[in-house]
Parts: sequence; C-alpha cells; structure tokens
Amino acid sequence: MKENYKNEVRYYTFPAFEEHPEIVHAFTSRECGVSDGYYSSLNMGIHTGDDLENVKTNYRILCQTLSLDPEKIVLANLVHGDTIRNVTAADAGAGLWRDFPYEGVDGLLTNEPGLILTATFADCVPVFFYDPVKKVIGIAHSGWKGTALEIASKMVDRMQSDYGCRVEDILAGIGPSIGMCCFETDSDVFMEFAEFPYLDEVWFYPKDDGKFDIDLWRINFEMLLYAGIPEDNISISGLCTCCNSDIFFSHRASKGKRGTMAGVISLKE
Ligand SMILES: [Zn+2]
Repeated sequence: MKENYKNEVRYYTFPAFEEHPEIVHAFTSRECGVSDGYYSSLNMGIHTGDDLENVKTNYRILCQTLSLDPEKIVLANLVHGDTIRNVTAADAGAGLWRDFPYEGVDGLLTNEPGLILTATFADCVPVFFYDPVKKVIGIAHSGWKGTALEIASKMVDRMQSDYGCRVEDILAGIGPSIGMCCFETDSDVFMEFAEFPYLDEVWFYPKDDGKFDIDLWRINFEMLLYAGIPEDNISISGLCTCCNSDIFFSHRASKGKRGTMAGVISLKE
C-alpha cells in the first residue's frame, strides 16, 4: 500500500484503487488524533472505552484530510459475523452522529455517492471493494471469524446479485492486519479453515507445540480468487499491524488495550 501524509495524518491507500479518481479510500494509522493513553491518538473506535467526543473529533480530522463530509459517515456495527448491509442515504451518520438503525453488520455496500462506508480494525482484516463499471463500493471486516464465515466472498456475491456487478470488473484490497508472522493460534482456529476447498498448503505453518501460524491474507486472497475475481484485481497490503504497533493499533500487541483504525471508502458526489 502507499503511505500518504496530509495535514500530518498518515494513512494508507491501494494504488489500484487510486487509479479511479471518482472514489476516495483510506486505512488510517494511529497518528495525529486527539485521543490519549492507550488510544493515542487517532482512535476511530466507538466501543473502545475512549471518550466518544475524542473519537468524533478524530473522524472530523480524517474527513477534513480526505475532503469528505463527516455527516455522511456510516459505521459498520461489528460483531464478527457475516451480515452485509446495502447502505442508503437514510443510514448517513449511523453509529457516530446518531444511534445505529441496524445491529450486527460486518459488511457495507453502496452505489450512492457521498456516503462514507466505514469499518474499524485492530488486527482483523479489512477487505475493500470497488467496481468501476457499476460504481459500487464496499468494505468488509474479516477477522478470523469473518474469514471463517467467508464474508469476503459473500460481499462479491452480493455485489453481483444486488448491484449487477460482473465479477471480472471488481477490484479488491486486503488491508493492514495481523500477518502470519504474528497470528499464532490453537488448532480450533486452524480447523475453521481446514475444509475450505480452494486453499493450498501455504496458508498455515504447524508448530511442534501443536499451535499453528495462520495466514489470513492468503486465505482471503484465495477466497476472492475462488469467488471469481481476477488475480490482477486483488491487492494485498502486506502490512502487519502487530509488527508495526508503533504505527497501527494492534489487539494482540497491546493485549487488548488499544484503539482502532478505520477503513473508509466513498464515491465522490
Ligand atoms: Zn507481524
């Protein structure tokens, strides 16, 4: 991913998505917000225990940096599930400026300009989507549970069934999250993926102590390929949040005492 600095805010973008000037997207870092302590400083998480006013200010900072209208933010109401919502203008502000009108949503899709689809992450895998033909955007929260539920391929299915997208047109981007370098699990997590028919042998490493290192980037990549997205349309950031906990919030690196980053994507009005 490309590292960007604007208004002293550091954020990351996929070059393949930036070839389309009609969209704005970003994955945030910790830098240049107003939150203190564990949450220092650009904490985007409404359920992290941080002062909500600080989180709101951080969203205003991000929107100013990206030239977006903060009133149009639509937050996913994350539960590590696989529910996907087709967002409309009626959802503007959901989760930040007003209560959620929905529960348990881990994937957002829309074709309406102006809305800012937003999900938050602190090791879980963000998957961004854009169809430049049908002008459909999406973001999914795919931690190991969401990956086990195959939320990324369900996003592709919904883009086709609900918006008429052709799979060969869809771009996908796998953003900063915990890498195989840091994602050691017990066998129960390994077993969640063991039956996936599209996985080769390179998505895990078995260790002598019965634990496994698991590559969620690889699993999501293979899942998107299996869903029909061409290999050349898939970007992988390769940035591990746990290895880079000076730049990113990491649940594992901080033992849970942390803020969250935001992934945002918007079609320009
Ligand atoms: Zn790592």
